[in-house]
Amino acid sequence: MDHFTFTDMKKIKRENLGDAVPLELFRTIRLIGLYQALPMKGKGTTLTIGRKIGEEFGVTSVNELFRLFEQLKIGIPVITHEDDKGMSIAVHDCFCEGLPVMEGKMVCDLEGAIIEGALTKIRGKRVSVREVKCNVHGDECCEYIVKY
Ligand SMILES: [Zn+2]
Repeated sequence: MDHFTFTDMKKIKRENLGDAVPLELFRTIRLIGLYQALPMKGKGTTLTIGRKIGEEFGVTSVNELFRLFEQLKIGIPVITHEDDKGMSIAVHDCFCEGLPVMEGKMVCDLEGAIIEGALTKIRGKRVSVREVKCNVHGDECCEYIVKY
């Protein structure tokens, strides 16, 4: 065995501390680690990481992806618009909810890249996802535009 799969991630045998880590740890890795430590706010790297995660999820439908998003407590995704060219996805209860608002900043690019990777795999064709709203930006939710 030389690499981990998403199935491996579910094999947890931790006697005292269980299967969950606090949101503040996830935020610290995401925002202080990736977003603030990497050059250009981690843009290219975050995209690569997110796409790979989305592909590895192994989901076969949008519903399955959305259920997993909620199950993993990434957020609660809802389709707000859909046509033959793509869709808009609002994510409620995103990990960033409650953080201080920072003008002009959107921080949920990793989550968008995860959606991009998963949808590309599901559709068998390259899909692009752009982050257009974020709680940190002062918006009412985080939102993505998906283009087929
Ligand atoms: Zn956000």
